[in-house]
Amino acid sequence: MISEKMKPLVENNSVIRVMFEEGKRLAAIYGPENVYDFSLGNPNVAAPKEVEESMLEVIREEDSVFVHGYMSNAGYEDVRETIAEDLNRRFQTAFGSRNILMTVGAASGLNVILKTILNPGDEVVVFAPYFVEYGNYVRNYDGKLVVISANTEDFQPDLEKLEKQVSEKTKAVIINTPNNPTGVVYSEETLKRLAQILRQKSHAFGNPIVLISDEPYRELAYDGVLVPYVTKYYENTAVCYSYSKSLSLPGERIGYVVIPDEMTDSQEMFGAASIANRVLGCVNAPSFMQRVIKRCIEKGASVNLDAYDRNRNRLYEGLTACGFSCIRPQGAFYLFVKSPEEDEKIFCEKASRHNLLLVPGSSFACPGYVRIAYCVSYQQIERAMPAFLALAGEYGLEKKD
Ligand code: PLP
Repeated sequence: MISEKMKPLVENNSVIRVMFEEGKRLAAIYGPENVYDFSLGNPNVAAPKEVEESMLEVIREEDSVFVHGYMSNAGYEDVRETIAEDLNRRFQTAFGSRNILMTVGAASGLNVILKTILNPGDEVVVFAPYFVEYGNYVRNYDGKLVVISANTEDFQPDLEKLEKQVSEKTKAVIINTPNNPTGVVYSEETLKRLAQILRQKSHAFGNPIVLISDEPYRELAYDGVLVPYVTKYYENTAVCYSYSKSLSLPGERIGYVVIPDEMTDSQEMFGAASIANRVLGCVNAPSFMQRVIKRCIEKGASVNLDAYDRNRNRLYEGLTACGFSCIRPQGAFYLFVKSPEEDEKIFCEKASRHNLLLVPGSSFACPGYVRIAYCVSYQQIERAMPAFLALAGEYGLEKKD
């Protein structure tokens, strides 16, 4: 029954999901407090209080027939206008509702954009390490994923390699900043250079290359680091945003895509993307959550960054003190740690014997590293430290004070 295209997806069912199941199995044996599951990017911080307040207000104050009804495939006009104004205020952009398309999270936003632009055989470039679903999304529309190997020095995208890899078949480049799994934020310098290359290649090949900026972690940036707004650097940018992490609402499936006026054939693109939203079966983003998001923005709801920051510092300091090596993440809620042995899958297996669940870097096309998601309780990090220390001991890593 299953289609040929589905079969490999079933066979390679996400390693992260499998680990999530493994965590549940170990918890049943050892007790949940003795299993240190760092595998899934599911926020542990509660949604800000404004979310519940807004939900209740929508139920009490808005007409229920309207709230639960269909609307334009792009979403409610007033919600889109509120988002546009908020972006303009924060990033000095000039968006209107005409530029904002409500989607079922960033995952759906990416699919909407890829469906809108890809012809079979078109290439989409990604930088390793990258969110593994990109490959599946690109293949949904018979596109071809082109992977640029990691720059393990600082995990900024390798633009020299990009320059060589972009061809007349390149339709899009996907970036993700702050990044899953490295926690790196792409600098302004990186974006300027990236824009320069894409502009030059678009011109040379006579085809605009779309830069897709996948931004579910935009609001999760620490130490006051600036996360540059990508549309300001490159005209053919589509931004895929999500409230999954910024308001801790991953199960509610709400986000949006920005298609700026500066994009080639902007309004035609917007119309096509709205149709893509419909024909992919989403029809429109969840109506109730759109109404809730409008109120959350008006109330200034924001993520509890301090909780993640505390975890980040504890884990980074703790792991480097054990002798593990990793770059200090500036955003998102992941740490990308160098495996002390070449095959990081073996390292992950050894870690799981200490009840530590980590994700191998090969799941992000970057072997030799592991991802640790620190969107967990502070107590879990504290309790896991002796296990990390014992694991470091197995490898004879040098303890640092
Ligand atoms: N992009 C990246 C890099 C992610 O890490 C995730 C989720 O973890 C997504 C997209 C999908 O997010 P959403 O829940 O908004 O669909």
